Amino acid sequence: MPKKMLSKSKYLNGLQCLKYLWLLYNDPGKIPAFDASTLRIFDQGHQVGELAGQLFPDGITIPSNDFMGNIKLTKKLLAERKPLFEPGFYQDNLFSRLDILNPAGDDAWDIIEVKSSTSVKDVNLHDVSFQRHCAVKTGLKINRCFLAVVNNKYVKHGDINPFEYFTVHDITDKVNQAAQGIEERIEEMFKVIALPACPEMRLGEYCNSPYDCPVTLCSAGLPEGNIFDLYRGGKKCYQMFYDGILKVEDIPADYKLSEAQQIQKECAISGTPHIDKKAVREFLSRIKSPVYYLDFETINPVIPLFEGTRPYQRIPFQYSLHKVTGNETKHYSFLAEGQEDPRPALLRQLKKEIGTKGSILTYNQSFEEGVIREMAEVFPEYAEWAAAIYPRMLDLLQPFQSFSYYHPAQHGSASIKKVLPAVTGKGYSDLTIAEGDAASSAFLTVTFGETSEQERLQVRRDLEKYCGLDTEGMIWIVDELKKLSGEKNQTGVQQRLFEL
Ligand code: SF4
Repeated sequence: MPKKMLSKSKYLNGLQCLKYLWLLYNDPGKIPAFDASTLRIFDQGHQVGELAGQLFPDGITIPSNDFMGNIKLTKKLLAERKPLFEPGFYQDNLFSRLDILNPAGDDAWDIIEVKSSTSVKDVNLHDVSFQRHCAVKTGLKINRCFLAVVNNKYVKHGDINPFEYFTVHDITDKVNQAAQGIEERIEEMFKVIALPACPEMRLGEYCNSPYDCPVTLCSAGLPEGNIFDLYRGGKKCYQMFYDGILKVEDIPADYKLSEAQQIQKECAISGTPHIDKKAVREFLSRIKSPVYYLDFETINPVIPLFEGTRPYQRIPFQYSLHKVTGNETKHYSFLAEGQEDPRPALLRQLKKEIGTKGSILTYNQSFEEGVIREMAEVFPEYAEWAAAIYPRMLDLLQPFQSFSYYHPAQHGSASIKKVLPAVTGKGYSDLTIAEGDAASSAFLTVTFGETSEQERLQVRRDLEKYCGLDTEGMIWIVDELKKLSGEKNQTGVQQRLFEL
C-alpha cells in the first residue's frame, strides 16, 4: 500500500495520541465534526493570519486552494526572495504549509508562525519544528524561527497597527529542542497509520492536552455515573480507571476523596440528591426583594472591533433580566443592533431596568460583575452606579459549587447547563442556540457578516430565547431550592420574596 501523506496538523494529532492519528486516516467517520467553540478558534486564527500579512507589505500570498498548484508556485516564487504567505512544501510524504517565510541574508529564510493565542505553547514549538523539517527536506535553508502571538495589552486606536498588535518571539532554540527525535516520531507515525487495526490507547490526561480530543468512542463504554464525573478529579480519575474502578459508587473507602467527591460517592450509592438544607436556607435568606436575575452574553473578538478595546476583551452585546416582585415577574432584555459599540446603549438601558434595591442574582457572579466593572472603567459616568450594584449581587452558582446541593445528574458539574435540568427537569436541548460560544458566533455572524434579513431575525429570536432561559432558569432553580430546603413562610410564587 502506498505510504500516506503526513501533514503538520496530523503530526500534531499524532503527538497527542496515536489512536487519534490512526482514526484520522483509517476511520475518519468516527471523528465528530468540530464544535462551535473550535470553529470559532479556527476563525480567529484566520483573522489573525490575515492581519499578520500586513507585517510584510511586499509579501506575496500563494493561494492555498490548489494543493499542487501551491507547492509548484512556492518553488517558483522562492527565487524572488520576497516574503511569502502560505508557501507549501512537500517531500517524502511530508507536507507543511507555513504562515510566513521571510528572506534572511542571501540564501536563507526565517519562518514566522502566527497564532491567535497570547503566549508561546509547547505545541507551537512542535508545530514549527515540523514546518522546518519539511522545508529543510526540500532543500531550503532555514535561519531562525519566530512565533507571532497576540499582544493582549494592545489597545485599538483607529486602524489596527499590526506592529503593535503582535508580539514576535524568537523560538529558534526551543524549536531545536522540540525537533530532537522528530525523524523517529515521524517514522513511528507512518507505521501506525499503516496498521491494519486501530492501536489500543487507554484514556489518559493527553486526551485533553494540548487539545480536547473530539473522539468520543474511547469513553463510550464508560457507565453512567463513572469516575470521570468526579469534581476536580484530575489525575485521580485516571489512576482509578487504571485500577479498574469505573463507577463513583464503587470507589473503595481507602481512596482519598475531597469533601465534594465524597458527597458524589454517597449520592451515587444512595441514588438520591444531597442537600445541606441549612446552608441552602442561609443562601436563600440573603435574597432580597425585588429579585433581579441577570445574565450577559459577550463577544471577545481577537481583533478589537471598538475603539479603546483590547484583543479578547469581553464586550457584552446582550442581557436578559428577570425581575420578580411578589407574584409579578417581568422580563427585560437587551440585544445590540448595528455595528457600533453596544456598551453605551446597554448601560443606559440596564441602569433604568435594574433599579436601586433588591438582590441581583447571577450564575457565576465573577463573570457578570467583571463585565460591569470593565464597563465602568471605560465609562466612568457609570462608576457610582456600578459601585452600588456589586453589594446587591449574589451568586446562584455558590450553593452548587460548594456542594450544598448536588444531584447525580449534574455529573460533577456546577454549570447551569447541568444544574437546570438536574434540579428542574427543564433544559436547553430544544434551543437552536444552547451555549455561550454559539451565541457569540451567531451574533458576530449576523451583525458583522453577510446574512439575509430573514436569517438575522431568526438568529436574534434564538439569542433572545437562549439568554432568556438562563435567567428564567435561575428563577426555577431558586424556587426548587426553596421547596427542597423547606424554606419557611413561602407560598407559590410568593416564595420568591424576601422583603427588605
Ligand atoms: S479520546 Fe484519548 S485515547 Fe481516544 S483517541 Fe482521543 S486522545 Fe486517543
